[in-house]
Amino acid sequence: MTALRPQPRPAVLAIEAYVPGKSAAPAGVTLHKLSSNETPLGPSPKAIAAYQATADKLELYPDGSATKLRQAIGERYGLDPARIVCGAGSDEILNLIAHAYIGPGDEGLYSEYGFLVYKIAITGCGGVPVVAKERNNTADVDALLAAVTPRTKVVFLANPNNPTGTYLPFDQVKRLHAGLRPDILLVLDAAYAEYVKRNDYESGIELVATSDNVVMARTFSKIYGLAGLRLGWAYGPAHVIDALNRIRGPFNVSSSAIEAGVAALKDGAHLDAAVAHNETWLPWAAKEIAALGLKVTPSVGNFLLIEFPREKGRTAAEADAFLTRRGLILRAVGAYGLPDCLRLTIGSAEQMKLVVAALTDFMSGAPRA
Ligand SMILES: *Cc1c(COP(=O)(O)O)cnc(C)c1O
Repeated sequence: MTALRPQPRPAVLAIEAYVPGKSAAPAGVTLHKLSSNETPLGPSPKAIAAYQATADKLELYPDGSATKLRQAIGERYGLDPARIVCGAGSDEILNLIAHAYIGPGDEGLYSEYGFLVYKIAITGCGGVPVVAKERNNTADVDALLAAVTPRTKVVFLANPNNPTGTYLPFDQVKRLHAGLRPDILLVLDAAYAEYVKRNDYESGIELVATSDNVVMARTFSKIYGLAGLRLGWAYGPAHVIDALNRIRGPFNVSSSAIEAGVAALKDGAHLDAAVAHNETWLPWAAKEIAALGLKVTPSVGNFLLIEFPREKGRTAAEADAFLTRRGLILRAVGAYGLPDCLRLTIGSAEQMKLVVAALTDFMSGAPRA
């Protein structure tokens, strides 16, 4: 029978759309958006100036291969620019990977509380999302390997993961890689790599360099503070980068994003300041919130997953409403299967003090019968 209107592929309608963090406060209340892991320091002033300088050339197409930016990334991270591809955020990179490697009926694997974009990307390609259980809110290499089937095409691992903030040490990532067939692509999503200060952590650069089936995704949205511009990149084997270049839009990264990205990479002092801020306020917030009797998952990112009790008057939903009334917007993570949790982004010093004060009031209120 002929349909009465155009029909998207069934896989498209199978997608549960991503719901971004809230960004509104009640009328008359100052908004503190702590729901999207944005940096309280903003981008480098040099990146803003470089962005503004592109304003008088907007009639020109950007360099479709973002050569200048790939070279700057290559210099900053010691990588071959020929093995880098840039995208409109790492979301685009993750979607390109899924579209290049996952077809109808193929499986894409990720861990239980893994970043939700993976599920959307896999589903949209007609693929089957397969989920491996976690342990202690951390990806479990054995569970991931046990979930591999002959139809597995791609394994997505956010390291560190959002929304949990936990990470896998390099030896665990290597063990995961060693257990995968060579035809399975391992995607290491290192959106928060710059925040991680652990000797046993490796973002993926080394594993990409020494294997043929690993690709690393990175972003300018988090520590570089350029989320609004949409800029990300991938580093991978030449054959993977070639595949992604074939399916991406020919001008997928804007000239403004290219210029701002190059300038951001050159401002090491700004990056150091963002790291130092996080090193101060992440442990402070974790300690203060845990002292209120709330469970806080140890995080190496710029955010904390906070678990609330199920007791009436103390639940995550009630905390969310309480904090929202004060303009403090955290991220509800029910869509991740974590209905008892809220995710808090490390904001400014003032914001962290406001959150701790608000949670103190929330927890000291009498629980309702
Ligand atoms: C924020 C985030 C990204 C990237 O976002 P873009 O803004 O699209 O670059 C990727 N992966 C994880 C795990 C994230 O939290």
